[in-house]
Amino acid sequence: MSISFYNTLTRKTEEFIPMNEGEVRMYSCGPTVYDYFHIGNARSFVMSDIVRRYFEFRGYRVTYVMNITDIDDKIIKRANEQGVPSSEIAETYTEAFLHDSARFGIRPADVFPRATETMDEIIAHIQGLIEKGAAYNVNGDVFFRVSAFKEYGKLSRKNIEELEVGARIEADTRKENPVDFALWKSAKPGEPSWDSPWGKGRPGWHMECSVMSQKFLGETFDIHAGGNDLIFPHHENEIAQSEALTEKTFARYWMHFGFLNIDNEKMSKSLGNFFTAREIVEKFPAEVIRFYYLQTHYRSPLNFTHEGLDAAKTGLQKLQGLYDALREASGGTGPFDVKHFEQRFITAMDDDFNTPAGFGVLFEMVREANSILHGSGGMEEGSREALIDFLRRSCIGLFGILREESGGGATGELVGGLMDLLIGIRADARKEKQYALSDRIRDGLKELGVVLEDSRDGTKWKLSNE
Ligand code: AMP
Ligand code: ZN
Repeated sequence: MSISFYNTLTRKTEEFIPMNEGEVRMYSCGPTVYDYFHIGNARSFVMSDIVRRYFEFRGYRVTYVMNITDIDDKIIKRANEQGVPSSEIAETYTEAFLHDSARFGIRPADVFPRATETMDEIIAHIQGLIEKGAAYNVNGDVFFRVSAFKEYGKLSRKNIEELEVGARIEADTRKENPVDFALWKSAKPGEPSWDSPWGKGRPGWHMECSVMSQKFLGETFDIHAGGNDLIFPHHENEIAQSEALTEKTFARYWMHFGFLNIDNEKMSKSLGNFFTAREIVEKFPAEVIRFYYLQTHYRSPLNFTHEGLDAAKTGLQKLQGLYDALREASGGTGPFDVKHFEQRFITAMDDDFNTPAGFGVLFEMVREANSILHGSGGMEEGSREALIDFLRRSCIGLFGILREESGGGATGELVGGLMDLLIGIRADARKEKQYALSDRIRDGLKELGVVLEDSRDGTKWKLSNE
């Protein structure tokens, strides 16, 4: 069995055949660093990370590159608003991106190329296109000549004639054709710029991704991923300007992630339904949010609701509960066929990274495993170890949704909630002078290794061995 997934380029679910056996070279469009990233971006970053991890789970070696767009109109605008250099904005939000990604449990890419560090290669690529007649310079602005690339529109299935009609509305008179797009933008006063054969300026966004991906993955690589919104024009233009130069296929498989909406509306600052990733991890553990994302297929839109997140929390507790119970249990007699579930899990995931179907299998497994584990004979040792190992590989290594340390994650929250409840009851008992009850709570907890510390600010608890 091999992995198949939907290729936007062919509009088909295709078997994945890597260029080099056992190896995957993958590029995912990263953030434009002018602000904190939001929970929509986070969904795309998490899904892309899961695809990478699933290839690893299936034994592939993966080289994973994610760019950081650190020079762009939005960054310059933000810098001007705040009266600081654009490099300062880019630095602040690159750091925030790396920090927030880590909090989300997103593994760092093997390489995070930055546009400003790839300038020489970008300029050489544009120069090559000009020499080939696929780009032209108009007073320091360089445009891609769309008519020079006959396959333009092959990814988004857009037709050039229709695009021309649309583009004519706000046509830039410097362009030969309204659909042509900028590869290099001449510097306006006060803008950051780099020297080039066409004068001072900076690259267009599409160009940055073409060059950063090829620099680290080669002229042709396996998978290019990004959110749905990037199919046109971003990815279409990446293909055109890459293939027009190399005359080779750029990315072989194109993968696109569905959008995240909130309460069935597009997330936007003006509607006030906008959440940054760092806001949401203050309210919900990252594991819960990841699990929530993964319950929807990566190509489908996801309607984000707080109720949905609460439900995800409950679902995740079942998995964490089994994982904790398995590690606490010992020597029983009941056999459990983990291999059977693992096989079904792989079949589900091999079919277009179908995480909802994968979880269907995992939850069936949780129900069966619980009934054996908590049944009269308990679970036989070899099965128990195999099940722990499978949960570790699938729910920690692959999905990053379970916590290793006992009492963490979903269970940790439950413990926290129960402790708050007990401390509250003890406080009420003391107010009503029911000292026997309040002492019983304190002493009982002490026996369980939990120490209560009273102070003017209330009662705190900690484990006595901490
Ligand atoms: P940006 O920083 O806007 O270039 O976006 C970074 C990544 O997040 C890209 O892959 C986008 O396609 C993706 N993205 C942006 N908005 C959303 C959203 N609401 N839902 C899912 N992915 C998104
Ligand atoms: Zn990109």
